[in-house]
Amino acid sequence: MNDLQQLRFRDPARAEALGEAIHEVCSEIGRDPITLMHVCGSHEQAIARFGLRTGLPKNLDVIMGPGCPVCITDLPEVDEGVALALQGVKVCTYGDMLRVPGTSLSLNDAMARGGNVAVVYSPSQAIEIARKTEEQVVFFATGFETTAVTTAAALLAGDVPENFSILSAHKYIPPAMEIVATMPGSRIEGFLAAGHAAAITGSGLFEPLARKHRMPIVVAGFEPLDILAAVLELLVLVRDGRNEVANLYPRCVSAQGNLPAQKILWQVFELEQGWWRGIADIPDGNLRLRDTYAHLDARKRFDIDIKKLWSHAPHELAAQCVCGDIMAGKCQPTDCGLYGTKCTPDAPVGACMVSSEGACRIWQQYGGRPDLSEVG
Ligand code: SF4
Ligand code: SF4
Repeated sequence: MNDLQQLRFRDPARAEALGEAIHEVCSEIGRDPITLMHVCGSHEQAIARFGLRTGLPKNLDVIMGPGCPVCITDLPEVDEGVALALQGVKVCTYGDMLRVPGTSLSLNDAMARGGNVAVVYSPSQAIEIARKTEEQVVFFATGFETTAVTTAAALLAGDVPENFSILSAHKYIPPAMEIVATMPGSRIEGFLAAGHAAAITGSGLFEPLARKHRMPIVVAGFEPLDILAAVLELLVLVRDGRNEVANLYPRCVSAQGNLPAQKILWQVFELEQGWWRGIADIPDGNLRLRDTYAHLDARKRFDIDIKKLWSHAPHELAAQCVCGDIMAGKCQPTDCGLYGTKCTPDAPVGACMVSSEGACRIWQQYGGRPDLSEVG
């Protein structure tokens, strides 16, 4: 997007008009609070960075759900990466994963103990590393369906060396939205769906979810006006009791999505039940390699002993971390007693403070719902 195009989505006059309409619809709904959930780290970054919450009505809560792929990578999955690195296998992964705590150790801790870890920017780069070494190389693959497509495409590109395999911790968002929406005590009245992911899966994917749980869903882009327009549309659907899906990101998302990308994704991966860190055991929440690719599956190729890691003491403050509750929409970062004091981006205790897409980290960087009442 060029500068001029970007300005169209950051126009203060349009933002003000949308803000006024949001206030109007919220007062028509009249409840306090009205709770909408988004499920994307980039949405939270935009909301916090542009201070959008400061202009929202007091009875409207826009909360972040399980939208950070790093934060929801489960402890035993991190343990598997750590165990492999300590076993002498070269573990390649994205930089954000290094400081994410496992049960007792992170990949950074593993490196400090002589573990073999390398940061890569793509699965293809990990394959390239494998080509140049005789070591066993494992790509620790994290991220949602958007990122899983990249992993699948790298495998399908062919010529994968024999010393390369995948440790898949990829996750699939739609079933997690369903679980979070139906958790006891959930206040969620509608979802903002992530535009990136919907560009792959299509907005139509959300139709059954909206019908089954009688909950509107609006696909949103990432510029401030995209988000404000999507919030307004979602509020209108809530007010009118219309449990529909609306696509407010049509410049990137279609109803059917990116069919070639979906083909690649489902050719390589299939769904299985799996834990999302601190949230729940989610049926169909994990993406695992199909049996056709068993020869590339690190879990099948290596004896991964994570139990020996459990004798190390976990971080002394880990028990106080409420990342899971934050991602389930039950509380916000400032409700955590460690937030900004004993848990900071430089010394994170939980995964939500590690990743650039984690709610605690984003709130530390930009402020979540700053009180500007005294600024005027
Ligand atoms: S991968 Fe893209 S769509 Fe998914 S949470 Fe991250 S930024 Fe949002
Ligand atoms: S502030 Fe730190 S300890 Fe508290 S929930 Fe966030 S990541 Fe966990």
